[in-house]
Amino acid sequence: MKISNYFSPNFDKKKRSIDSIRIIVIHYTGMQSERVSISRLCDPKFKVSSHFLINQKGKVYRLVKDRQVAWHAGKSCWGKYRQLNKNSIGIELVNKGHRFGYTNFKKEQISSLIKICKILIKKYKIKMRNVVGHSDISPTRKIDPGEKFPWKFLAKKNIGIWHSFSNNYLKKFRKIKISKQKDKIRFVQNLKKIGYCFPANNKFFLIKAIRSFQRRYRSELLNGIVDKECLAIAENLSKKL
Ligand SMILES: [Zn+2]
Repeated sequence: MKISNYFSPNFDKKKRSIDSIRIIVIHYTGMQSERVSISRLCDPKFKVSSHFLINQKGKVYRLVKDRQVAWHAGKSCWGKYRQLNKNSIGIELVNKGHRFGYTNFKKEQISSLIKICKILIKKYKIKMRNVVGHSDISPTRKIDPGEKFPWKFLAKKNIGIWHSFSNNYLKKFRKIKISKQKDKIRFVQNLKKIGYCFPANNKFFLIKAIRSFQRRYRSELLNGIVDKECLAIAENLSKKL
């Protein structure tokens, strides 16, 4: 596939080993325009970057080489990994985001993303569970790529995980409270097994993690409350891991 090189100076001086590349992190740019996004990701003043940027027409830019550590994840955690810049490839999708006018991702943009992900997954043997959104790895700080991101469609193309339920089946369980303490505990255990990180007994962090989970797997209702639908999805996902 055609990739245009566009140099960003924002990466660690020290090269990393190929073995340390374990995770793909998907972002949206959340800026006013494509031009602003590229110039910021390439400006030493801002100290941010990503390996790839995909514009709304599906054009792919390489800003930082895979073997360099780009600065896209910030404070983050996923499963056994901490501070994910060193372990991940960051891909930015041009989208104004929640601050400037969040829009659906364009077909061409997603189709380029799928191509890039397939190449990276094969090259670095990335596990399906390790294709994540920024909000998954930094739930207290980030909400990108957001609830409009087509995770289900990507999973159909074997990129990232998804549950096996139909929407119609799940709908019946939406807003149905879970009352048993053991169900609540099970949900939290499943969330951790999937990869979400949060300190034990901290309600604020837990609610943020639940919202991130919902943003990805149950985007119809983002309330931070575990209901039977959330429990069913988490249980189903964790069985696949
Ligand atoms: Zn991000």
